[in-house]
Amino acid sequence: MLSSYADCPRRAAAKQFRKLFAADGYEFRQLAPSVGSAAGTALHVITGEMNRAVWNGEQFRLDDALQMAFQGFSEGIAEGCEWDATTPNTNTAEYQIRRMAAVYKPRMPLTIDGAPAIEIGGEYGIRANAGDGWTLSGHPDLIGADAAVDDTKSGVVLRPHQPQLGGYSLLLRSNNLVRPTRIGLTFIQRIAKTKPQKPPVIVEYSIPEAERYAMGVIKRIKSDMATYKETGDLEQSFLVNPCSMMCSPKFCPAHGTDFCPITK
Ligand code: SF4
Repeated sequence: MLSSYADCPRRAAAKQFRKLFAADGYEFRQLAPSVGSAAGTALHVITGEMNRAVWNGEQFRLDDALQMAFQGFSEGIAEGCEWDATTPNTNTAEYQIRRMAAVYKPRMPLTIDGAPAIEIGGEYGIRANAGDGWTLSGHPDLIGADAAVDDTKSGVVLRPHQPQLGGYSLLLRSNNLVRPTRIGLTFIQRIAKTKPQKPPVIVEYSIPEAERYAMGVIKRIKSDMATYKETGDLEQSFLVNPCSMMCSPKFCPAHGTDFCPITK
């Protein structure tokens, strides 16, 4: 949640701490997954298999990976999906997932505890004490053999993610797993079927700056939540941003609810 918190703290809080607010009587919308996140998850399945094949010294089998990815995609959208203008249906999504995977360049992962450093941390991610009873957790997509931390992003637009990558760097250093040499993104654009697929864009962030951004957001989340616990007052605790691109009943569980009265 670190990268998206500043866009609308109230939406981020509603998504991340929903159970806590539900216990206070707030009700939220059920959101269908967006095609962007479902396609992104499918692409991660394939890129993870590609990197694992490099680590294992095996031939990568694209058809097997695509089958797994498409099955996950169809399970992910089984109960509905927010399609968009770039990806209006399953056929288009599968076509795009296939060609996004085709431009990904696999890398040799670092070995940690005898396993490739791909989405490390298991079910709960890598965890670290964030102070005041808080835990920071996260799943870096890939730590390369050169100790470079890389997150794969697919989407229609490339957005900045310094706080997320800074959070990964903090997690890795505080667990003494690795001192990252670089942190950044591999962005593979999801493009309309009628246009050619572009190559990936590699983005690198300054580690000290990204860690500072991450710490700033972590402190703000803790402070906002502490204010809410103390006052129970949403307006004092979490800013709203109705100008956000994601301020819509499609993307925000609080839209039109008592948790965000400005949109009622
Ligand atoms: S409805 Fe809009 S302003 Fe309200 S929490 Fe969601 S994104 Fe933020």
